[in-house]
Amino acid sequence: MASNKISKNTIIIGAGPIGIACALECRKNNIDYLVIEKGALTNSIFNYPLNMHFFSTSEKLELDNIPFISKNPKPDRNEALEYYRRVATSNELEINLFETVIDIQKEAENFSVKTNKASYISSHVIIATGFYDIPALLKVPGEELPKVTHYYKEAHPYVMQKVAVVGASNSAVDAALEIYRKGGDVTMIVRGKEIGERVKYWVRPDIINRIEEGSIKAFFSSEILKIEPLQITIKTPDGIKKIKNDAVVALTGYRPNFDFLKSSGIEISEENKIPKYNPQTMESNVSGLYLAGVICGGTETHKWFIENSRIHAKMIIEDLKK
Ligand code: FAD
Repeated sequence: MASNKISKNTIIIGAGPIGIACALECRKNNIDYLVIEKGALTNSIFNYPLNMHFFSTSEKLELDNIPFISKNPKPDRNEALEYYRRVATSNELEINLFETVIDIQKEAENFSVKTNKASYISSHVIIATGFYDIPALLKVPGEELPKVTHYYKEAHPYVMQKVAVVGASNSAVDAALEIYRKGGDVTMIVRGKEIGERVKYWVRPDIINRIEEGSIKAFFSSEILKIEPLQITIKTPDGIKKIKNDAVVALTGYRPNFDFLKSSGIEISEENKIPKYNPQTMESNVSGLYLAGVICGGTETHKWFIENSRIHAKMIIEDLKK
């Protein structure tokens, strides 16, 4: 092994909940591992809306049966940050933060992993990079204006503003309701005919009623064509409309980094861009290279979540021990 490279048995890319679950499993099995995370610990959750509540109850977000106690059955962002922080620190997990993996290449039996800070060599690599870094863009003129965001944080900047919320999934609905309740003038622009069917069952009636009573305006079967500093142009079933607008909150989903997967040698299906992996072991088509967490869903980003993908950690470590 080259002397200038740091050697590990297993490199885990991403310190989200599932990367942390993989680290816990490695630790329990005495596997020499390192987690490399490009941002803060659980960077995706850190970047979620400040008042976000999970749809899962806390025990479903637990890792390795370490109890997650929350005030309410559905924990909020801060409680989740506290929980994963405690899991990582009390177990003294080996995690390098603010270090980005830029390249993984298989060289003979080992992987060469390059980051913006160092080079590593390892027998196994687990990619647990999630999908929250790359927003699905509207691809319309004006999307680059500073009044447009693809990440909603909190309602305060939108108070007394005319805000277009694009999308009709959980994130868009939560943002529309919160901005409306804090005094923003909200118009939803929805490509489908109705509010998304997967919107949390206790929130869906709320948004439908607010739209029916006219508190929140909504254009269904509609899409934004153009964003300008003082207005937006929308294509609706009743023709093209221009409405006054101060801010656009575009919450139309996120995408895994497919280029990163492909450059690592992972095959991606034409349909839905699902990466190739063995569902029994989570090993990709590249021997020794594993996939864990929500990255496995391709463009079907609703398919995997913490609840049903935390199991990947045990499956992978069982396999790489062989
Ligand atoms: P992530 O948490 O996204 O972690 C991936 C990590 O990889 C990130 O920290 C990222 O910075 C890092 N990374 C990416 N690229 C690199 C690189 N090149 N080098 C180094 N690091 C890299 N799931 C549930 O089970 N219940 C819920 O209630 C729930 N609510 C959700 C609410 C919202 C608003 C969203 C967006 C998702 C929700 N999910 C929920 C889905 C799921 O919880 C999250 O997507 C979860 O964070 C996925 O965990 P993960 O570890 O697979 O990926």
